[in-house]
Parts: sequence; C-alpha cells; structure tokens
Amino acid sequence: MPEQIVRCPYCVLGNEFRPMLRRPRGRAGGRLENWFVCLVCGHKATPGAQHSSCACAKCQEMDRIAIRCRTTGEFQRSLPIDLPRPAAH
Ligand SMILES: [Zn+2]
Ligand SMILES: [Zn+2]
Repeated sequence: MPEQIVRCPYCVLGNEFRPMLRRPRGRAGGRLENWFVCLVCGHKATPGAQHSSCACAKCQEMDRIAIRCRTTGEFQRSLPIDLPRPAAH
C-alpha cells in the first residue's frame, strides 16, 4: 500500500502544498484512524476530511470569515429593497 500523502490546505512548500506529518492512529474527526498534522500551522486533518475545521489558527480564521459573510448576507436581506423616500412637496 503506497504511503498516503495529505497536504496542508493552508501552507505552501515551493510550488505545491506542504505535506503533512502522518501521526499514528488516534481519534480525529470522530473516528479512529490515521491523522495528519501540519508542522507549520498546526492544522490537523484525516484523509477523509482534509478540509474540515480544526482548532488551528488558520481554521479559526476561516470560520471567522465565514461567519462574517453569513452575517453580512443576512443583514442585507433584512433591508427593504426600496428605501422609503420623502414625499415630494
Ligand atoms: Zn499548514
Ligand atoms: Zn486547521
């Protein structure tokens, strides 16, 4: 079985994503399986869930951006399309 390479979605090494360090079996993503950790940013991933959020700074940042986008979208939707205009007298 060829060694599986999982790459960090946040870190670049040369012209490709940085391979993550394979760790022995552990509980990650709710299942007991091999998992990988990025030595640069601390991102953790399992082969089946490379892009799921973990507790690293990069994932937290992505979460914050996602929340801000959602909040902004809801704010815009709640605005009336036509603002009331002053009566022309
Ligand atoms: Zn990384
Ligand atoms: Zn992460």
